[in-house]
Amino acid sequence: MKKPLTVRLLVFWLSLAVLLTGLYPGCARNPVTGKRQVALISEQQEIAMGRESHPQILQQYGRLENAQIQTYVEGIGQRLAGVSHRPELEWHFTVVDVPVVNAFAVPGGYIYITREIMAYMNNEAELAGVLGHEIGHVTARHSVEQISKAQLFSLGLGVGSIISPTFQQLGGLAESGLGLLFLKYGRDDERQSDQLGVNYMLQAGYDPRRMVEFFEVFERLQEESGEVLPNWLSTHPAPPDRIKRTSEEASQLLANRPSTDLKVAREPYLRQIAGIVYGENPREGFTQDGWFLHPDLRFRIRFPNGWRVQNTRSAVVAVEPNGAAAIQLTLATERRSPEEYAALLANQPGVRLVSGNRTSINGNPSFLGIYEVVNQNTQQAIGALAAFISYGNNLYQVVGITSPNQFRSASNIFESSLTTFGALTDNRALGVQPDRIRIVEAREGQTLRDLAGRFSNSRIKLEDLALLNRLEPNEPLRAGVEVKLIEPGRRLAE
Ligand SMILES: [Zn+2]
Repeated sequence: MKKPLTVRLLVFWLSLAVLLTGLYPGCARNPVTGKRQVALISEQQEIAMGRESHPQILQQYGRLENAQIQTYVEGIGQRLAGVSHRPELEWHFTVVDVPVVNAFAVPGGYIYITREIMAYMNNEAELAGVLGHEIGHVTARHSVEQISKAQLFSLGLGVGSIISPTFQQLGGLAESGLGLLFLKYGRDDERQSDQLGVNYMLQAGYDPRRMVEFFEVFERLQEESGEVLPNWLSTHPAPPDRIKRTSEEASQLLANRPSTDLKVAREPYLRQIAGIVYGENPREGFTQDGWFLHPDLRFRIRFPNGWRVQNTRSAVVAVEPNGAAAIQLTLATERRSPEEYAALLANQPGVRLVSGNRTSINGNPSFLGIYEVVNQNTQQAIGALAAFISYGNNLYQVVGITSPNQFRSASNIFESSLTTFGALTDNRALGVQPDRIRIVEAREGQTLRDLAGRFSNSRIKLEDLALLNRLEPNEPLRAGVEVKLIEPGRRLAE
C-alpha cells in the first residue's frame, strides 16, 4: 500500500522550508566547490529536513527486513561518507523494500537504495559507486538547491498545501507534477555526482571502473518504469556521454597509482543478497480478476473496472482513468471504533461530515459517511465518501474522492467499491510467495542458459538473467563462478 515519494515529501518539504526560513535568501559555502552560493536553507535546516523526512520515507517504502544487509550497506556507506567532503555529517544508509531500481538521497545525509537495485549489482564496488554518487548529491547540496528553487516557486504561487492528516495524501495527488519536476536533478548535478562518486570510491579503496559498468545497467533498464517510485533514470537524468566521461575520469584517477590493490568484492556481495525478494512481493497485495487481494493483511476489495491501482507500503490507491476520482485504502493509526474515528475526523479543520451512519460491511463493524473537505490554503473543496471498517486488529479507512460537482455521480461507484471490502479466505491466495534470488556455482564450461534450467520461472526470461548477471547466455563459465538465479515463489495462476 502507498503514494509516490515525490508528492507527499515535496509538500512536506515545502511547508517545512517555509516555516523554517524567512523570506530572505542567505548565503552559504558549498562544501564541494568552496564557492558561496545562494541558499535559502542553512545546514541545520537541511539536517532537520532529513531527520523529519526519514520516518516518512520508511513509512512510505518500508525498510527491508534484513538486519544483515542493512548493516552491510551501512558499513560501506559510512566508509565512503568518511572520505567525502562532509565527513562530519551524521550519515544514514537504508535499504528500502521497493521493487524498482533506484537510489536516492535526502538532504542532511540520508541515503536510500532499493532492494531491486541491489539485485542488479554484482559486487561491492558497484554498491560503493551508487552510494558514492548519492553521497555526492548531498555533499554538493544538490537537493538543497532543488528545494530552494521549489521554495521560491511555492512562495510565488502559494502551493504547499496541508489539509487534515487523513486527507493530506489525497490532496497531494494533484501536486505530483510539481513534485516530479523539482526532485529531478539537473544533468550538471548528475555529472558532478558521477565524478564525486568515483572519487569517493577510489578513496575508500574500490575500483572506480566498476561504476562505469553499472551505468550500462541503467541504460539497458531505461524502459522499465516504476509505478510506486520513479526509476533511476527518471530521477537521475543521464548527462551526455555519461559512460565515456566516467570511464575517462576513472582512468585518470588510476593513471598515477597501482590498481592491483583495489577492491571489487564479488563473492562477499553475492553472499549478502542471496535469498532476498526479487520483483513485486505478492504477499503485500496484488490484483487478480478485478480484485485487490492482500494475503498478509487477509483482506480483499474490488476497485471500479479499469481504474489504475497503485500499491504502496502505506496505501493502496485506485485512480479513475482520467484522474478525476480516486479511492484510497489505508490503515488508521488510531485504535478506535469506526464511529469514534469518524467523529474525530469530522473535527479536523476544513473537514465537514455531511451525513453518515454506523453499518456493517461484509460482517465487519463500519461507519460509512459523506464528507466535504476544504483545503485550508487553496480553499479548493473535494467531496469524499469514506468507510471506516474494523477488521482483524485494524481499522481500515477506504475513501473515495472527487470534485464536489462530480460527487453525486461518483458516490454510487465509490459505494459499490467500498462495500466489497471483506475477508480474504482463499487458501491459494493466502499462500502466495515472492520470487527470490539464489546464488549457484557453475561447473567448468556451464553457461547461464544451462544454469537457468535449474528453476522453471515463467516470469523471468533468459535475457533478464543475462542482465542481472551481465553475462551472455551462452558464455562458458569457469568452475566456481557464482551466478544469480531467480527461484519462483508460489503464485495463484501461472
Ligand atoms: Zn544522481
